[in-house]
Amino acid sequence: PSWERQVQASAAPRRDSGLSVLVTGASGFVGTHVSLALKKRGDGVVGLDNFNNYYDPSLKRARQAMLNEHKVFVIDGDINDAQLLARLFDAVQFSHVMHLAAQAGVRYAIENPHSYVRSNLAGLVTLLEACKSMNPQPAVVWASSSSVYGLNEKVPFSESDLTDRPASLYAATKKAGEEITHTYNHIYGLSITGLRFFTVYGPWGRPDMAYFSFTKNILQGKPITVYRGKDGVDLARDFTFIEDIVKGCVASLDTAGKSTGSGGKKTGPAPYRIFNLGNTSPVTVPTLVSILERNLKVKAKIVEKEMPGNGDVPFTHANISLARTELGYKPTTDLESGLKRFVKWYMSYYGYRNHANKSER
Ligand code: NAD
Repeated sequence: PSWERQVQASAAPRRDSGLSVLVTGASGFVGTHVSLALKKRGDGVVGLDNFNNYYDPSLKRARQAMLNEHKVFVIDGDINDAQLLARLFDAVQFSHVMHLAAQAGVRYAIENPHSYVRSNLAGLVTLLEACKSMNPQPAVVWASSSSVYGLNEKVPFSESDLTDRPASLYAATKKAGEEITHTYNHIYGLSITGLRFFTVYGPWGRPDMAYFSFTKNILQGKPITVYRGKDGVDLARDFTFIEDIVKGCVASLDTAGKSTGSGGKKTGPAPYRIFNLGNTSPVTVPTLVSILERNLKVKAKIVEKEMPGNGDVPFTHANISLARTELGYKPTTDLESGLKRFVKWYMSYYGYRNHANKSER
């Protein structure tokens, strides 16, 4: 079948009142899970991903293969490609865009600043331009980040807190993304929902994140580096399990465009909303390590270092009462049981048998 036919088949909802969703970053960690969840309940889903090599592209291809099995077509393409977007929006009238494509990671920005500008700013604008010119316009739900709270010291972090102290270029581009989407909301009437994810983890996760690389090194008998804050205080993160995040994303899509605006600043006919999606239960990095050791049945070789001040923040902690009220968001998986699920996936994906210490496939 032609490209248009493939895209249209994938975008067609199976159930009455089903959504038709474009998921950018669909072969990424969160994108894969969100795409599957939507497809499983009968929505139509088309993915878009550029399969860049920020981390192992073979993991992205494996996720794509899983999506293909579930009849989700993933286009190999870039959000900066305006012509591709025009062709796609010509072929399909999407009801929603779930925008997850981005240059993620905090430390990578030190060496690769322009990668963040390209995907998180220029790419975002190209995508919003395409959405804006559709009639009717799709409702946009996109991933901001807890990193916008930066060096905020008031906990837990609430959506109404000032976000004027970003600690990394990544955080700065997410914060700028909130301003950019807000502008498209009030000038062009685009319905916007920004989701501030808090440290998402789970099966099919991102190899650049600490829980993943710790698992890899512990299993290979290699040392892991644990950073401490300047005053010797342990770093802490509000780790949020992928299934909880997916529920928050799906609820955001379901309520997008229908909001009364009480979920955020309502500045035009269409809603502009921002929600924290976290777990409200921060865990220190040493505790994360000890949970992994218990699950892997291997002792970690820990090298402690002072945090080098390259973009990491000392702690994150979400107040989720707004998402609870507006989206019915209610995280149910704690770090202990979520990591058990991650370790089980990791062992099976990388070909470890039992809990023996074997090298990676
Ligand atoms: P990910 O890197 O696994 O997924 C992003 C995907 O987007 C990748 O598959 C990548 O190939 C694709 N991509 C990047 N630039 C692109 C471009 N220009 N065009 C097309 N595709 C492109 O990351 P993730 O963890 O799944 O994150 C999803 C979103 O959530 C991102 O916007 C990220 O910034 C945000 N976020 C994630 C976390 C987390 O803890 N995982 C926390 C806060 C925010």
